[in-house]
Amino acid sequence: MARVLQKYGGTSLQSTERIRLIADRAIREQENGSQLVIVVSAMGDTTNQLVQLASEVSSCTAGRELDLLLSTGEQISSSLLALAIQERGREAIALTGAQAGLETEEVHGDARITDVNTAKIREELNAGKIVLVAGFQGCAKNQEICTLGRGGSDTTAAALAAALQADRCEIFTDVDGVYSADPRYVLGARKHERLNYTHLLTLAETGAEVVHPRAVAYAQDHQIPLVVRSSFHEQEGTKIQHDSGIAFPVVGVTFQKGLSYFQWRGKIEEEELLAGLADVNSLVGNVQVSNGHTDLIIKEEHGSEMSAWLNENKHKLGINSIQHAEGMTAVHLVFADLDEKRRLAPLLNEKELVPSGDVYRINCAPDAWSVVVPEEYAVEVAQRIHDWFMGLESKKASIAL
Ligand code: ASP
Ligand code: MG
Repeated sequence: MARVLQKYGGTSLQSTERIRLIADRAIREQENGSQLVIVVSAMGDTTNQLVQLASEVSSCTAGRELDLLLSTGEQISSSLLALAIQERGREAIALTGAQAGLETEEVHGDARITDVNTAKIREELNAGKIVLVAGFQGCAKNQEICTLGRGGSDTTAAALAAALQADRCEIFTDVDGVYSADPRYVLGARKHERLNYTHLLTLAETGAEVVHPRAVAYAQDHQIPLVVRSSFHEQEGTKIQHDSGIAFPVVGVTFQKGLSYFQWRGKIEEEELLAGLADVNSLVGNVQVSNGHTDLIIKEEHGSEMSAWLNENKHKLGINSIQHAEGMTAVHLVFADLDEKRRLAPLLNEKELVPSGDVYRINCAPDAWSVVVPEEYAVEVAQRIHDWFMGLESKKASIAL
């Protein structure tokens, strides 16, 4: 009997009407002879609303009560879906992350999964039930509920798929699959029928929001076939496996918004620089040193702290001429075949990519070529790069990011 893990995102569960449709779909899958575990996100915009509610009474941004609060969003979805399935005369059981055996480290707001005890889920599956699991949460050894960071339901799904040795893990979302660029912004973006894990991991790590990078890494480590598909129709989505080749010259173009760019004259040792970064995760790509200048890209929320630190320490560090630009966006081009990088040459005299000349090359991943530009030019740059590689006549991008 096939064991299938499905995950439904917030837009797929936006209303009780959508939940009823998903209940029908789940029953059809079970009738096909599958054992079915479904991981759910919170309904629609619930998590943002809960964050907003908390901010109205507290300045706390992470902690046990906040995790307790946020974890309820997914519990609402799993309970409602279980009720809807039961209403159709089938057996179903809803579980919190803790009840489903997801053990996490003791970190509030961004915990990693440390272990999965699948005994309870296996018992319920063997009793013929459809098992609904609240995503995005687990329980630490000290019995505290911890959440997995925004987008963490994907990680719950991949971790459970791995632990249950599922035959496949299907991520249901509001798009038809993984595209060569976000079709909301880039005209002519094409859907991939197949991708390999490394392709999808680089897309996810460079800003494609379609699947969380930690989920892709889990699937890759455990060789779980992933499928990204729409919950709004029955069409096949994108299949992600270990050895899939792709049909297009490039894997895709992605964006990362909200970045701060720094440049200064002189070089700072990496360890020294890390001391100035409030949060090491803030660093985007590698620090670049060329022609006596250092370039640094970090997330915008840490831009002012970084700027203050550089200015305070510039004499000690032996650097000067510090420049700082906010509101920058990275545009990444992810290659399937590194030889394709050579084709960039005629197009990408990067100084000509945007009219203002504010364009900086950065290194983010070995299989990607990346530039940082002011946000207002990002879509245009992405469109030009995408058209060039897909062999399309250049279209004028009209939508702002
Ligand atoms: N509901 C959580 C979020 O909005 C987790 C998830 O959807 O994956 O980030
Ligand atoms: Mg998501």
